[in-house]
Amino acid sequence: MSYTPHGKHLIAGEWVATDETFPSEPAHGAAHAFCIGTTDLVDRACKAAEEAFGTYGTSTRETRAAFLNAIADEIEACGDAITEIGTQETGLPAARLQGERGRTTGQLRLFAEHILQGDYLDRRHDAALPDRAPMPRPDLKMIQRPIGPVAVFGASNFPLAFSTAGGDTAAALAAGCPVVVKGHSAHPGTGEIVAEAIHAAIRTSGMPAGAFSLIQGGNRDVGTALVQHPLIRAVGFTGSLAGGRALFDLCAARPEPIPFFGELGSVNPMFLLPEAASTRGAEIGTGWAGSLTMGAGQFCTNPGVAVVLPGADAFIAAAEAALTDAGAQTMLTDGIADAYRLGVARVADGATELLGTACEGREAKPYLYKISAKDWLATHDLQEEVFGPLGIIVEAESLDQMAGIARAIQGQLTCTLHMDDGDIRAAHTLLPLIERKAGRILVNGFPTGVEVCDAMVHGGPYPASTNFGATSVGTLSIRRFLRPICYQNLPDALLPEAF
Ligand code: NAP
Repeated sequence: MSYTPHGKHLIAGEWVATDETFPSEPAHGAAHAFCIGTTDLVDRACKAAEEAFGTYGTSTRETRAAFLNAIADEIEACGDAITEIGTQETGLPAARLQGERGRTTGQLRLFAEHILQGDYLDRRHDAALPDRAPMPRPDLKMIQRPIGPVAVFGASNFPLAFSTAGGDTAAALAAGCPVVVKGHSAHPGTGEIVAEAIHAAIRTSGMPAGAFSLIQGGNRDVGTALVQHPLIRAVGFTGSLAGGRALFDLCAARPEPIPFFGELGSVNPMFLLPEAASTRGAEIGTGWAGSLTMGAGQFCTNPGVAVVLPGADAFIAAAEAALTDAGAQTMLTDGIADAYRLGVARVADGATELLGTACEGREAKPYLYKISAKDWLATHDLQEEVFGPLGIIVEAESLDQMAGIARAIQGQLTCTLHMDDGDIRAAHTLLPLIERKAGRILVNGFPTGVEVCDAMVHGGPYPASTNFGATSVGTLSIRRFLRPICYQNLPDALLPEAF
């Protein structure tokens, strides 16, 4: 079953066309025209979201859980069409799109279960102490409540799981917040078909139409107007540091600032400790190359930097051999492929090339560089993410210098230790340092592949994210769209939830 996009925006239950269009830029297949978003549509969608909040924000958890499950069902019902248009627009293989679809429907269903359990409400009760001297204590009950309309910006590299019905949308809808999505211009047709699925679920579940809107992009004014709209209460963003920072600054500069939950880029350093390097160096090097090239290196958890000590020759040789064998891959957009080449040039300016072949157009080939810890620390540019299959090996002279790197790195989504039993003392030295830098710490693994579950933290100190206390993956991510309210002496009949 093929899907031909109509190219319109979904504003509170109505598909709306605008005069001007932009063409999609598929990796293969025909381009389609999509209506360019306008600030008028942003206003309409936000007003409808605020109106919907009146009923949606006070709907029962059972109602919202059924709605989330209905969205998952609708997405599955058009699964093949989503895969077809998704592969055309992004160049990602069908298996990846299918897997990502499963992750997307899985996380919608996980949130449905999560809100039914009710733990996320974090109910706290300090019972009244009328006889307490010198002052009696009133009855105090605290509960988490939804904050209101949420704006969502997805990333190009996860057209499903971090996009229209992705983690931010699922978390916000689960919390009771209507959502206005700014469609990603790299996959507008995929965004549209998923919005059709949400639209269908809204109708079958009897949800208010303003609970969800999608405004296609094609014009950066859409995003800026959305984060500045006075009815938007928070923003969930996944994307680049530059884009995220620009929108974060706009949120902070509003007359009434709002939280901006930006999950941005990361270089995800791996620290290779000496015993592991000597006993399993080749195995780790091959594994690293696999993680580095997965999805053409277009993962926010791509482990772009490996910090080693002298004697890591087996690791380096194995990584080089495996990367030499990795073929060219199609990148998500022409712009991302151009940015990759600029990133390669930036690294080539400061580090020694071990491996690299020129690539053209939308293709990416792996690059491998090596640099001393001293030079890496002195070159701030080399600490920034290169979005693509590029690895940098940073060679420290000693464990002290390795610890110096752990102290100097910026905030990260992940940090990894590769270690054997004999490395435990070195790991003890590094752990408190990397704990201050990363949201997730791995031992003997690779950070690509983020489990959607209760314990997951996908965030970290800036620039990995703009809120180091939050995660954008897993059930804890619902907390971003909730606000604690304390009810003092409220009669039970007025409380939003039973205690
Ligand atoms: P992007 O270029 O920043 O785009 C993300 C969204 O923001 C798009 O809708 C884009 O609009 C919009 N946008 C960007 N800059 C804007 C501005 N100045 N004003 C208004 N709107 C703006 O990011 P991307 O290329 O899609 O994603 C790749 C990046 O995301 C990588 O750096 C990757 O590491 C990171 N990422 C992070 C995570 C995570 O969880 N931390 C996950 C996946 C990806 P347009 O549609 O007009 O471009």
